[in-house]
Amino acid sequence: MPNSQIKQNVSVGRILCSIFGHRFIVTRKVTAHIKEYECACCGKQVTIDAKGNLASLTPQLKEINETLAMLHQKKLSQAQQHQHHPAA
Ligand SMILES: [Zn+2]
Repeated sequence: MPNSQIKQNVSVGRILCSIFGHRFIVTRKVTAHIKEYECACCGKQVTIDAKGNLASLTPQLKEINETLAMLHQKKLSQAQQHQHHPAA
């Protein structure tokens, strides 16, 4: 059964992760400092919390990140408006 094979791969991934640590790849850039990551091995999702620690990506943290990303985009577009000086 292909299904049982997939399940086996995931659990092998988890064992590897517990031995060697997760292999996180950036899945989303929230701000310059905050990003969301996913383990390429077992699929675990994490993010950087307000204290700068790596934390499991819970629905609450995802919501916080959404808000942060929105505020960050606002800031960026405001900064761009201020840069409309003629080039020297
Ligand atoms: Zn992992």
